[in-house]
Amino acid sequence: MHKTIQSLLSEHDGSALAIGAPDRGWMTYECLRDLAHEVADALHGMGIGKGDRVAIVLPNGPEMAAAFVSIAQVATTAPLNPAYREEEYAFYLSDLKAKALVVAEDYDGAALGAAEKAGMMVIRLRVPVGSPAGYFTLSSEHSGIVGKKDVSPDDVALILHTSGTTSRPKIVPLLQSNVAASAEHVRMSLNLTPEDRCLNVMPLFHIHGLIAAVAASLAAGASVWCAPGFDALKFFGWMKEAKPTWYTAVPTMHQAILARAARNEEIIDATRLRFLRSSSASLPAQVMLALGDTFGAPVVEGYGMTEAAHQMASNPLDDGAQKPGSVGVEAGPMVRIAHETENHLIDDIGEVVISGPNVTPGYEGNPEANEKSFFDAEGHRWFRTGDQGAFDEDGYLVLTGRLKEIINRGGEKISPLEVDGVLLDHPAVGQVVTFALPHPKLGEEVAAAVVLREGAEASAQDIRSFAATRMADFKVPRKVIIMDEIPKGATGKMQRIGLAEKLGLVEK
Ligand code: ATP
Ligand code: MG
Repeated sequence: MHKTIQSLLSEHDGSALAIGAPDRGWMTYECLRDLAHEVADALHGMGIGKGDRVAIVLPNGPEMAAAFVSIAQVATTAPLNPAYREEEYAFYLSDLKAKALVVAEDYDGAALGAAEKAGMMVIRLRVPVGSPAGYFTLSSEHSGIVGKKDVSPDDVALILHTSGTTSRPKIVPLLQSNVAASAEHVRMSLNLTPEDRCLNVMPLFHIHGLIAAVAASLAAGASVWCAPGFDALKFFGWMKEAKPTWYTAVPTMHQAILARAARNEEIIDATRLRFLRSSSASLPAQVMLALGDTFGAPVVEGYGMTEAAHQMASNPLDDGAQKPGSVGVEAGPMVRIAHETENHLIDDIGEVVISGPNVTPGYEGNPEANEKSFFDAEGHRWFRTGDQGAFDEDGYLVLTGRLKEIINRGGEKISPLEVDGVLLDHPAVGQVVTFALPHPKLGEEVAAAVVLREGAEASAQDIRSFAATRMADFKVPRKVIIMDEIPKGATGKMQRIGLAEKLGLVEK
């Protein structure tokens, strides 16, 4: 088993293509290894090394991918969302105790002010003219001190914040060994080989893109083509240029891609993906089936989270082994079900817990969350995911929702995922997010925000009547709100918690 990020990359054919991008061609593995040495020398010369934290604020793309893998070999990387405002940077940078900030040569954005106030070193990333995708040099003042060397598997390689879907984002440190293990888990579950090529559209300040697209590809000696971010209008053009064998995305992106697929059949046929992958939020069965039909390839849904350095479970790739509505089988750590309040494992529906080499040692600066999240049972240390689910008779995990999002209607527990699935069967419904609406007597009522398919028509009452033919009365949304777009978080996820307030449905 590889224990560090460096060891993941060490054995591949130097002439093979590693990182690519639109209009920039490809960086080979030899070039990537040279870059890593140059970055190590430059950072050590600036007094940065083992244990030091380097915040990275770069646009999505090949430099961001290469900066992550090269800086993480010598120091701790903390990629941040380039869309933050100065106040957010001030908060995240001080939270992280970062020593330096890496930005693009021409960057003039909000992170600079925050870094200056925090007295941090600013390192500029320069792209020499004509260099291959992802190649860069670093420029900053030499400090006269030399950074500590010899990174070990127990050093922190990556610090991320969770997506903040259910509460204030939590800081998750991930060790070299966590990142290396998770990259290997993804590589193995997708059978990635040097022949594979990933088209990455995921943001690289989030674990999904960093591990599933970048680190897993590099662990396999495969290539990853880095798009500037997700854009449904450009997706098929990128596909044509990059000639990928697969891509990974969140369900809302897949839905946007599907909406444009009919116009791009030629590109789809010419590309012939080996498979496509979905993770980070529930993939409705209808969307999975439509994707499979459209691309003529298996659709593999995986289950990931920041605290697990991404992957926990995945549907197998074998013909017909993907179950719609399930996140698949164990694919890395041990996955079990625990009692929701007591510290023991159970065989029934309950809280999903994991234990394995990819799991964070614990949140930073949050003893209460750690106290609640970890427990010992049956000879292992378990981490509580906050998700509710159960294994079916074939050992496939079916999630019923996040514990915090389960709707409690006067004591009746309702899975928002189940309601989503039913409403999506209505022919006019394109997207749906079911959520709890505060209710004076029942505590909570079921509500759903719905986006209709292009050109389709249906009233809220039509959708409620349809739902009533398919599920028990208490699960039928009392309120259906038809809207143009459902609000999403920075990583593209729809947020159920707080939606009632956001939509002005709660009296203050
Ligand atoms: P926060 O922890 O701050 O509330 P978050 O949990 O959304 O935010 P992430 O670590 O990005 O932050 O997401 C992990 C969560 O995403 C999982 O705990 C699970 O709820 C959800 N998730 C991931 N993959 C799937 C999937 N395939 N199906 C359903 N839910 C999924
Ligand atoms: Mg979470």
